[in-house]
Amino acid sequence: MKNTVYKDCRLTMKENENHKTIIKIGEINIGEDFLMIAGPCSVEEEDIMFRISEELVKNGVRFLRAGAYKPRTSPYSFQGLGEKGIAILEKIKNKTGLKIVTEVLDEYSFDKVDQVADILQIGSRNMANFSLLKRVGKQKKPVLLKRGMSATLSEYLMAAEYIMNEGNPNVILCERGIRTFDNHCRNTLDIAAVPSLKKLTHLPVIVDPSHAAGERDLVIPLSKAAIAIGADGLIIETHLIPAESWSDADQAISVSQLGEILDFIHAQSLNKPFKKIKKIA
Ligand code: PEP
Ligand code: MN
Repeated sequence: MKNTVYKDCRLTMKENENHKTIIKIGEINIGEDFLMIAGPCSVEEEDIMFRISEELVKNGVRFLRAGAYKPRTSPYSFQGLGEKGIAILEKIKNKTGLKIVTEVLDEYSFDKVDQVADILQIGSRNMANFSLLKRVGKQKKPVLLKRGMSATLSEYLMAAEYIMNEGNPNVILCERGIRTFDNHCRNTLDIAAVPSLKKLTHLPVIVDPSHAAGERDLVIPLSKAAIAIGADGLIIETHLIPAESWSDADQAISVSQLGEILDFIHAQSLNKPFKKIKKIA
């Protein structure tokens, strides 16, 4: 390997061109089928969560995102519903069959989150929380590891290496925007990180356009860019009444905007063999 910054990427590096990790959850093979995760930033009241979930199911989305434990910049901001949020997610999971993607904020709340999560999300702010990485590495549930907002790709891969080194090979990477000199967006979506990561690693790579954009009007174009560049999936903050979201309201998109992105994905698959997203007609 030419670049020595990757010398310790023992488990994350591709062994050959065709080396690819496929993570199976239900009928979806992540890394092969397009992974679409949608839902509000935070878990909200049960009624609205059910209504959002029903819309997602109607559109063929199988993974619901929503945080019960939220990493907020300000200690005065809403911190998430905690255990009450986990209970709501559990009801939704049982009634709708949606798979749950939710954040593990710390080791204290791990057991609660683990009760309901199908995919454990590690947030950008926790990418280098090595004890938390080791904790999620000690179990086999897939981990959605977001890129730290100031992390280089080698630092990012080393974070994944922490998880894998504990025995969990099921890591999904997620580019969610990084800090740059320009603040015209909340973060700068490092679109080149997607093909660069895919060249280096066998792990699936998805994109979070919501936290990169910071405003809903940019979410559709950034999603299209992610699809065009070969991302294995998207995680998008979506709400029935986006402006009323309890957190990250400015960047939440509506269900009909999500529909536009889903149509774009389906249209691609008409022209060439494209990663399937299964849609209910
Ligand atoms: C989130 O997904 O709501 C979130 C906090 O994301 P990030 O860790 O990328 O900021
Ligand atoms: Mn958010």
